[in-house]
Amino acid sequence: MKILKFGGTSVGSVENLHKVKDILISDNGQKIVVCSAMSGVTDQLVKLVAYIKLKDAEAITRNLHKLESKHLDVIDVLIDDIALRNDLKDGVSSMITEMLELSNQEYSEALNATVLTFGETLLTYIFSGFLNATNVSNKLLSAKDFMYVDNTDNPNIAKVSKKLTKIINTNPANIYITQGFVCKDHLNQISTLKRGGSDYTATIIGAALNAHEIQIWTDINGLHNNDPRYVEGTNPISHLTYNEAAELAYFGAKILHPQTVSPVVNKDIPVLLKNTFDPEAPGTVISNKTYRKGLKAISAKDGITAIKIKSNRMLMAHGYLRRIFEVFDNYHTSIDMITTSEIAISLTIDDTTYIDEIVKEIEGYAEVTVEQNHTIICVVGESVINDKNSHKLFEILNYIPVRMISYGGSNNNISILVETKDKIPTLRFLNEKLFLTHQEPVL
Ligand code: ASP
Ligand code: MG
Repeated sequence: MKILKFGGTSVGSVENLHKVKDILISDNGQKIVVCSAMSGVTDQLVKLVAYIKLKDAEAITRNLHKLESKHLDVIDVLIDDIALRNDLKDGVSSMITEMLELSNQEYSEALNATVLTFGETLLTYIFSGFLNATNVSNKLLSAKDFMYVDNTDNPNIAKVSKKLTKIINTNPANIYITQGFVCKDHLNQISTLKRGGSDYTATIIGAALNAHEIQIWTDINGLHNNDPRYVEGTNPISHLTYNEAAELAYFGAKILHPQTVSPVVNKDIPVLLKNTFDPEAPGTVISNKTYRKGLKAISAKDGITAIKIKSNRMLMAHGYLRRIFEVFDNYHTSIDMITTSEIAISLTIDDTTYIDEIVKEIEGYAEVTVEQNHTIICVVGESVINDKNSHKLFEILNYIPVRMISYGGSNNNISILVETKDKIPTLRFLNEKLFLTHQEPVL
């Protein structure tokens, strides 16, 4: 069994849906195909949720009609057979009518998740219909029937496995189509795996079925060694370890949801990152094999807030740090970077939901400074701290005001914190220093 996940751009137009179909029929193996919503649709649904909260009936209707025309237009071009086409269009229209009714109800968390994941519901319905109409037989599975993850940080793979295995055994098929992103929580309510979560759906399913491979199809030839949106001359990386991929995804590599690899690490199921628009390109293989140690890639995570906590009362005295961390813990706010001196500690967070409460509590015994609009730039590779070239990273100190540096937290990551306005020059500088003049690392 293989799991193939296609992202929003891959399923974002009629032309691209044909490409996805060609990829699916290029081998005969049994597969589960996880699809995102068409690109732009989830963003539109985020707006719909806002209108539901505001009880703005007119805006709700407008939003849903726009969504309906977008999907009906796709069906019009996608399906040749008139009867099949009309069937699918009727199906979409009644889903929209149902959603319109739901959207005029009282807001709830479950409604929020149902609305946000509606793009996946629509697209998989259309795509499965299209494949059947072109004699690529498949079964459409509702992820709500088996994605009982309970806890999204620590999904219950055994439960997903039990549910899904039963469904598959009673519905034999070669190709299954299902929705990414949506799941059921511990209360059995509809929930989501957070934005970009379809990648995570694919690896949860892969782990649950002990798949022999998971393929994540996007619009780029694998994970690049630097951010191609800001830096010229980046290259795809052929192999990454799970650790490297996890660090890069967590620290900003947009191609992968941060939790993607976690379900498969202990199962040693390879995750391939492939390009729908260049299927022959090798892409990136993520596995537990280390092909080459040393510097591999640079990534950047925006939206970081730096917090400096200063106290004259022996900050490093025992128990003091625990007291500070407890405050963050009580507000479920995780810390990314930490640096310390005798009288101060600086740390970073990305979720500022409870920043006011946190600051207020710590201000009871220390002076707190909050600085927003920072970016963590992360240099990643197995044993990167031993790479002969890594020291060149610190030349950045001559050019850009660096707010924090984290070195040695693990052997695989060196992070620096800069103001977001300095992100692009920093990425370009590091690319130049670390990759363009890069010789093979001597460890
Ligand atoms: N459609 C969802 C999003 O845009 C999930 C995904 O594409 O992975 O975040
Ligand atoms: Mg994605």
